[in-house]
Amino acid sequence: MSNRLVHPLLQEIGSLFARSGKQVFLVGGAVRDMLLRRPFSDWDLATDARPEEVDGIFRRTGRRVNVIPTGIKHGTVTVIYRGASIEITTFRTESVYRDGRHPQEVRFSASVEEDLSRRDFTMNAIALELPGGRLVDPFGGEADIGNRVIRCVGKPAERFSEDGLRVLRAVRFAAQLGFEVETASLSAIGEALDTVAKVSAERIRDELDKIVSSPKPSTAFLLMEKTGLLPLILPELALCRGIEQKGCHRFDVLDHSLLACDYAARKKYPREIALAALFHDTGKVKTRKRGEDGVWTFYRHEGESASLTRDILFRLRYPNAVIEKTVHLIEEHMFHYTEDWTDAAVRRFIVRAGEAHLQDLYALRFCDAFGTAGVEPSPEMLLPLAHRVEEVLRKGRSLSLKDLAVSGKDLIAAGMKPGREIGIILNELLETVLDDPEQNTQDKLLEIAGNLRKRYG
Ligand code: ATP
Ligand code: MG
Repeated sequence: MSNRLVHPLLQEIGSLFARSGKQVFLVGGAVRDMLLRRPFSDWDLATDARPEEVDGIFRRTGRRVNVIPTGIKHGTVTVIYRGASIEITTFRTESVYRDGRHPQEVRFSASVEEDLSRRDFTMNAIALELPGGRLVDPFGGEADIGNRVIRCVGKPAERFSEDGLRVLRAVRFAAQLGFEVETASLSAIGEALDTVAKVSAERIRDELDKIVSSPKPSTAFLLMEKTGLLPLILPELALCRGIEQKGCHRFDVLDHSLLACDYAARKKYPREIALAALFHDTGKVKTRKRGEDGVWTFYRHEGESASLTRDILFRLRYPNAVIEKTVHLIEEHMFHYTEDWTDAAVRRFIVRAGEAHLQDLYALRFCDAFGTAGVEPSPEMLLPLAHRVEEVLRKGRSLSLKDLAVSGKDLIAAGMKPGREIGIILNELLETVLDDPEQNTQDKLLEIAGNLRKRYG
């Protein structure tokens, strides 16, 4: 690799280390992505200098530099140098893994080769010497990158049993980079399921996030299915295999869901939409019934899917806001607009969906449609509904409880008892206003409230 490809800031850091008689290399994803000519996210450096020596090397420059002991136990410091944030880790070897998660002890090492040998895949075990740009590639990583292959460093079964996260990383990289997992590594995955079971929910979540935002999430999920990972990590999804739907559907529920998720990823929709696309039909497993005519029905499956999805995302420790949004989209994904919808029906749809979520709900419908037919849906598919929604919104926005011309306080002022009854009446008033926005004046609503109260009283 020619010197010119190395970023000037990295060359400068390389020279600083060389002047102190120390080695430093660019390692990990940045080297891989550089060889793939992909944009890379972060710079990781590896060095034979100890953390305190790294600190000294930067201090001697006399520049303002911040050396933060971010992972000092593992020999890592984060250096903020000329505005860049760079992780620098002393060469390590990791030996005993007792719990399949954390190495029992971390020992520093004198050689870059040894440091590379503890890394997961050959493509991630290449070092680029700084400042010169020479590649250190003891495991044939560059060739594997050329052949688009994910191969474990060393014996796959051993490497996976040391750390179950590597298994998830393998299938994630397959989806992210469009690489094949080499056969021996792939067959070792099935043997490592016990270790994967020990991986923390947060790390599984982070990998799932990377999978659903990769160019083709289905690649990872199909590999997970083939190796037995899917029933372990997302059993709700694994159960969708073989759930036939007939009618307008060509695919079973699993393939349908994966296609829907691929569509979300391809369109770069936000992660809530991709997750909703992935899980929106999981409830079909439980709600499936065969009618007298032999046709399957899935009555109210969206409610069941929503509840399963809440469980899955909670289990994987997703933030509440992500859970609520995803679950809401799934709960509302079954709308079926026809031209004979009255304005009141359109208004009810807007209230249920929530104005802020309409675009995302439309996006989910596009994923769903792609998953059903396997071809790009017509961009005009939702225009008739979208136009009606705009029209209705333009006519008036009295759409939620807070938009009513009366509030709970007004009802109390008009002599009603505080309590549950007020809530019931306010919701009835909202229904009335949805049917007929003209009713949304204080006088009219108070009058209606009085009548309702007589009915309930
Ligand atoms: P990306 O940052 O794009 O997700 P990456 O390969 O840079 O991919 P990081 O998690 O940033 O992944 O890790 C940096 C490097 O550390 C990897 O390239 C690999 O060499 C090594 N590494 C990371 N996780 C593991 C692991 N679980 N086992 C062995 N080596 C690992
Ligand atoms: Mg990285």
